[in-house]
Amino acid sequence: MPATILIVEDEPAIAELVALHCKHAGYAVQLAHAVMDARDIVDETLPDLVVLDWMLPDKSGIDFARELRKDDRTRDLPILMLTARAAEDDKVRGLEVGADDYVTKPFSPKELMARIKALLRRAAPEASESALEVAGLRLDPAAHRVMGNGVELKVGPTEFRLLRFLMSRPDRVMTRQALLDGVWGDHVFIEERTVDVHVRRLRIALEPTGHDALVETVRGGGYRLRKK
Ligand code: CA
Repeated sequence: MPATILIVEDEPAIAELVALHCKHAGYAVQLAHAVMDARDIVDETLPDLVVLDWMLPDKSGIDFARELRKDDRTRDLPILMLTARAAEDDKVRGLEVGADDYVTKPFSPKELMARIKALLRRAAPEASESALEVAGLRLDPAAHRVMGNGVELKVGPTEFRLLRFLMSRPDRVMTRQALLDGVWGDHVFIEERTVDVHVRRLRIALEPTGHDALVETVRGGGYRLRKK
């Protein structure tokens, strides 16, 4: 079954452009022109990925992304934000509310499709992998669950992959570039600063059981997950 992409965009020309390229790439497409319509579609059938415009007529895409992240059913749904705002603060804000990636308008369809493909690949289940355990922190890829001393911790999809990458290489210093390659894959468009945003979110997720202390910043190096 092809992956289904929900496109939430009120500008018809852009919506059609994105839809066309998605269809060419073999994806099924659903279109919504406002958050209200998108909400109905998501309630009915869960798409595999959402391309979400920032500025929409009824509500901002940011608010919708936040709603999707709060709901257990849509918590792991990959979100790619479309934004006309090139300001760095806005990009970071978009990532902080739960978008997995963003593309600034005007964008090249080729770049957009590469990012959609990368997000879908990252979201694909890897059920065969066994659980990892470091200092009371346990990550179960099959169940997509993180436990700290037996307590379940809420970790977002990108942070989950980041943690998995770090936990499978404990005590090793990983540069931002190594993390980009390992966690984001062959993704040439993401900036190194994005790594810092996700590390910050990961630490917040691990705070309830104090496991955030395992994620160490190595000055001039990158990050390391300590074994204890
Ligand atoms: Ca718009």
